[in-house]
Amino acid sequence: MDFFHYENNELYCEEVLVSDVAESVGTPFYLYSQRTIVDHYKKLDSAFSGIDHLICFSMKSNANLAICKTLANEGSGADIVSGGELYKAIKAGFNPQNIVFAGVGKTDSEIEYALKTDILMFNVESMSEAKAINRVAGNLGKKARIALRVNPDVDPGTHKHITTGKKENKFGLAIDHAIEYFTEANNMPNLDVIGIHAHIGSQIVSTEPYVESLKRLSKLISDLEKVGINIKTLNIGGGLGIIYNEENPSTAQQFAEAILPLVKPTGRRLILEPGRFIVGNAGILVTKVVYIKQTETKTFVIVDAGMNDLIRPALYDSYHNIRPLKINGTEEMTADIVGPICESADCFAKDRKINVVQEGDLLSIFSAGAYGFVMSSNYNARPKVAEVMVIGDKYFVVRKRETYEDLIKGEVIPQDIL
Ligand SMILES: *Cc1c(COP(=O)(O)O)cnc(C)c1O
Repeated sequence: MDFFHYENNELYCEEVLVSDVAESVGTPFYLYSQRTIVDHYKKLDSAFSGIDHLICFSMKSNANLAICKTLANEGSGADIVSGGELYKAIKAGFNPQNIVFAGVGKTDSEIEYALKTDILMFNVESMSEAKAINRVAGNLGKKARIALRVNPDVDPGTHKHITTGKKENKFGLAIDHAIEYFTEANNMPNLDVIGIHAHIGSQIVSTEPYVESLKRLSKLISDLEKVGINIKTLNIGGGLGIIYNEENPSTAQQFAEAILPLVKPTGRRLILEPGRFIVGNAGILVTKVVYIKQTETKTFVIVDAGMNDLIRPALYDSYHNIRPLKINGTEEMTADIVGPICESADCFAKDRKINVVQEGDLLSIFSAGAYGFVMSSNYNARPKVAEVMVIGDKYFVVRKRETYEDLIKGEVIPQDIL
C-alpha cells in the first residue's frame, strides 16, 4: 500500500498536491511519502511480532537522514555497508546496538570506526576479513561481535546483477565449508561469533528462495551446535520484492507465514534487512517534459531528469511506471521517454504507451524510492536533485538541490598551470 493517488486526475502524495511541490521546488526532484515508509515498516514488524526479531533497514537503498530518522523513531535498526553509512546512521539516530555492518571490502579504518561506535555486529564475508577484524579489535583491546555471511547457493530468480547468494557471486562464504570457517573464526581470540547471515538477492517476489535458504541455514545451526558453536542470531538478509509493473510479490504476512515454521524451531533471534520493501514504493521522481522530438520512426519525450538521477532502467533494464501529474483525457501515445544525458542508455522507458503529454508537462516516475537518489551522480556536470518528504498535508525539503558551486567543491587547479 502506498499513499500516492490520483484525485480528479491529479497526483497527490498523502494530502499534498504533487504539482504544488514542483512549483515551489522546481524539477527534477524525489518525493517521499513518510506515511508509506512507516506503513511498510510496521507491516513487516507486526508480521514477526510473535518472535524475537530486529528489522535493520538497508541504508544503501536510501540513506536520506529524514527517512532514516523516520525508521529509527519506529524502532528500526540499520544495515550498513560502509563507514559513510555508519556516519549517516549515527547522525540519523539509529541505536548502534541495532546496527549490522555487511560488505566484502571493509577497511581497517572502517572496522575501527565500527568497533569504537560499538555496533551490534559485523557480517563477515571472508576469512581474510575475519582476521582483519580480529587484529583491529585486538589493537583496541576489544572483542568484536560477528556473524559469518554464508552463501547458501540459492537462485532467487531475479536479475543477474542483483543475485548475491549463488556460488559464483562474490558475497559470503560457501555453505559447504561453513563449519570449518565458523570453527576458525571461533578460535580467534578477539572475535565473538554470535550469528549467521545470508542475503540471497534483491527484488525477490516469491517465498521459496527464502524457504530454501532457511532450510540450509537451520541445518547449519544444528551442525554448529554439534561442534560446540552456539550462535544467537539468524539474519536472513533483505531482498523482498515490490510491485514495479505487474509483479505479484508476497506480502509481509505471507512471507512471515512461509518462513516462521523454519525460524521458530531454531529459537534464534531473527534479523531482517529490508531496503526496497520499505522505501521502494514510498518515493517518486518528478520530472518535466523539456521537448517532444518526432523522428521518422519514433517519438521521443525528452525530460529534465537523466540516468544520473535514476540509473535503474539503464543499469538493470528495470521498469518504472510513468504517468503525468495531471491526466488530460484518455488519449495515449507511444514514445521513448529519455533524459538529456549524452548516452544512449539514458532512457527511462522504450516504446511505452503513456497518456498524451506535451512540452512543459510534469511526469511522475513511480517506485523510485529505493536505489534512486543514492545511486545518483554528477555525470554531465549535473547538480544532484532535491529530495522532499511529505508528512500528511505538509512537505519538507530534506535535501537541497545542488548548485553549480557544489559541482566544483573540493576541486583545485594547481598553481603551476594558473
Ligand atoms: C542490498 C542489501 C540488502 C537490501 O536489499 P533489498 O533488496 O533492498 O531489500 C540487505 N542486506 C544486504 C547484505 C544487502 O547487500
